Amino acid sequence: MSISTSLEIPERILLGPGPSMVHPRVLRAMGQPVLGHLDPQFLALMSEIQRQLRSVFETKNEMTIPVSGTGSAAMECALSNFIEPGDSVIICVNGYFGTRMCDMAARYGASVRRLDRRWGDVFSFDEIEAELHQGGPAKLVALVHAETSTGALQPIEGLSEIVHRYGAFLLIDCVTSLGGVPVKVDEWDVDIAYSGTQKCLGAPPGLGPVTVGPRALEVLRNRKVPVGNWYLDLTLLDRYWGDARTYHHTAPISMNYALYEALQIVREEGLEARFARHRRHAEMLWQGLEEMDLAMHVPLKHRLPMLTTVRIPEGINDAALRARLLKEYNIEIAGGFGELVGKIWRMGLMGYSSRPENVTLLLGALKDLLSR
Ligand SMILES: *Cc1c(COP(=O)(O)O)cnc(C)c1O
Repeated sequence: MSISTSLEIPERILLGPGPSMVHPRVLRAMGQPVLGHLDPQFLALMSEIQRQLRSVFETKNEMTIPVSGTGSAAMECALSNFIEPGDSVIICVNGYFGTRMCDMAARYGASVRRLDRRWGDVFSFDEIEAELHQGGPAKLVALVHAETSTGALQPIEGLSEIVHRYGAFLLIDCVTSLGGVPVKVDEWDVDIAYSGTQKCLGAPPGLGPVTVGPRALEVLRNRKVPVGNWYLDLTLLDRYWGDARTYHHTAPISMNYALYEALQIVREEGLEARFARHRRHAEMLWQGLEEMDLAMHVPLKHRLPMLTTVRIPEGINDAALRARLLKEYNIEIAGGFGELVGKIWRMGLMGYSSRPENVTLLLGALKDLLSR
């Protein structure tokens, strides 16, 4: 007779750059029976998820779907569908995720024009316009709205007018921003935006919401060569998520339950209240950190509320402190990477993690560990 042990996972306090903590309602939703991917009940759920996603993206875009896979799958979907071999694309890099976009775009045959900025800085519209003006036509301009690797919030409002004037379209990474700060796809006239479920939406990692506006849709329809990625080809996915409802791949059913429930929670809270909550708890954290004489990496003006980057004080062992934080306080935060490795800690207050008791606990734990 074999002895089986059922899975026992400790309950961590996730205050890093994601995944964030998952609301108990979302976890319960995931435990519901699995339906077939063409079951009428599931199809109705899909329509409701799309409706709610449009409302968090603040868009009327018909093509708004959660692609199967994490935020990186959504990134790959956004790039692979709109890049044809030889296309010239401008990618703004001020952190790790901009670098990842460059890597992906190059793999789909784009000629990448990479603009670089120090990690933690944001781009001015003037420098983007200068590249469009001097570097010749580009198909798209891509930016990361909330750079989780640095803690900086890139202003987007007003940029589309410039990008469109040069015949390019605007693509933004909203993996960390969606559900935590305003993402106004229609008002800002963003052509393509994508996100992930495990940051401010408060669901586990596993789906990547993508929204595509009419201008980009037209480009997609007029492609000369098929999309280089079968799994993420929006023209194929549209037959499942659109009216035809034909099989493409088996939707991750339970993850869609999770997203549905997470979006209900967003709706009940209200977008404005949710943004204010993220802001309020971030300010509480910043104040506490500053009282401990810790320095912020990003100036207040461009600082993310859902992800705080703080400089590691001189003489403190980064990895050892984070290990003790986890072991003694059950709290996860993250270190820096790329050019910020060993220089900063990244503290996330995203979605269900953004609660005052978590801020109090983190500040108390840090105070204790830093004073020893
Ligand atoms: C987390 C993140 C991603 C990647 O998402 P995964 O779910 O890890 O694949 C992309 N962009 C940004 C800004 C992120 O924070």
